[in-house]
Amino acid sequence: MRELAGYAVSAASSRGRIFPEKPPQGRSEFQRDRDRIIHSGAFRRLEYKTQVFVNHEGDLFRTRLTHSIEVAQIARSIARHLSLNEDLAEAISLAHDLGHTPFGHAGQDALNGCMQEYGGFEHNLQSVRVVDVLEERYAEFDGLNLCFETREGILKHCRMDVAARMGELGERFLKDQRPSLEAQIANLADEIAYNNHDVDDGLRSGLITLEQLETVPLAARHLQDVRVAYPELAGRRVVHEMVRRMINTLVTDLLRQSTDNIVKQRIETLDDVRMAPALVAFSDELNREQRELKRFLHQHLYRHYRVMRMSAKAQRIIRDLFGVFMEDARLLPTQFQAIGSEMNRARMVADYIAGMTDRYAIREHRRIFAVEEDPL
Ligand code: MG
Repeated sequence: MRELAGYAVSAASSRGRIFPEKPPQGRSEFQRDRDRIIHSGAFRRLEYKTQVFVNHEGDLFRTRLTHSIEVAQIARSIARHLSLNEDLAEAISLAHDLGHTPFGHAGQDALNGCMQEYGGFEHNLQSVRVVDVLEERYAEFDGLNLCFETREGILKHCRMDVAARMGELGERFLKDQRPSLEAQIANLADEIAYNNHDVDDGLRSGLITLEQLETVPLAARHLQDVRVAYPELAGRRVVHEMVRRMINTLVTDLLRQSTDNIVKQRIETLDDVRMAPALVAFSDELNREQRELKRFLHQHLYRHYRVMRMSAKAQRIIRDLFGVFMEDARLLPTQFQAIGSEMNRARMVADYIAGMTDRYAIREHRRIFAVEEDPL
């Protein structure tokens, strides 16, 4: 095995699992976490959950599954280069979206709206709930019983009142501490992945154009590089050459800046990492450029009227389902029929809806609301 830096997370420095288990044979603790995540039901469902485009809109668009794999690839490269725990960065990346609702952010917003009186709904928190509680795969415990550091990485942010109820996972928010570098990497790898693949998918869908991207410095200068290097090149290859250059620039910048931060802050141990400000970071310049790209995507892609129409439809589906299940719990599949308070029922309904894939939600909506279909 490669030598890990002194500030990396290792099995030896890990705070372990809630239910103690024998150390794994032939793989590391964090490889075991990764394997448990990949074998989970929630992971398989990511294939049919939207990133930006609803799952059935085109077979070439990213889904949450391919997104998560791209995040893991970027995170592993960065972790390896910084002599950090690649297996942990990979496990966090693969699990980071497990709690996402169907229909991307539109779905999350709608479900959060429905859950306002019941503590709200937050997909980060739901990802932790999936790996801690909801997966039913093991005889001895609920959830996947992952290592503390994997769970900590999944819980990217957290409201203070929620943190106070989260036990050891909430501590770092209350104490204003940072998570491991591996978790910080997974977080920024997520950003690199989605900004770039949304450019790619946005162009593929025709909702944004290369001409528009020429107003965005990060894209424009890489597009220019491609055009200078290959004046004859046209079509999709121009886009791919631009996107791969952007990813490369962002990753290289991140490596340089993060190494700098680690040296300047004299980081030697995992405790140093927790006490320091966020160390995994882009340079100021790239940060600025990334923000501009994000702004562009918000304005021209995420708020494109065709995306907005789909989002509105998606939100209606989520609200309808939530409403009808809260009104009459008998319509829920038996295992989701919580007994007890209205609060409990709302959480069960949210679990059920959050676990749905895009197409399952559409079908479930049709089964309940469409009179012309066989409702069974
Ligand atoms: Mg993500």
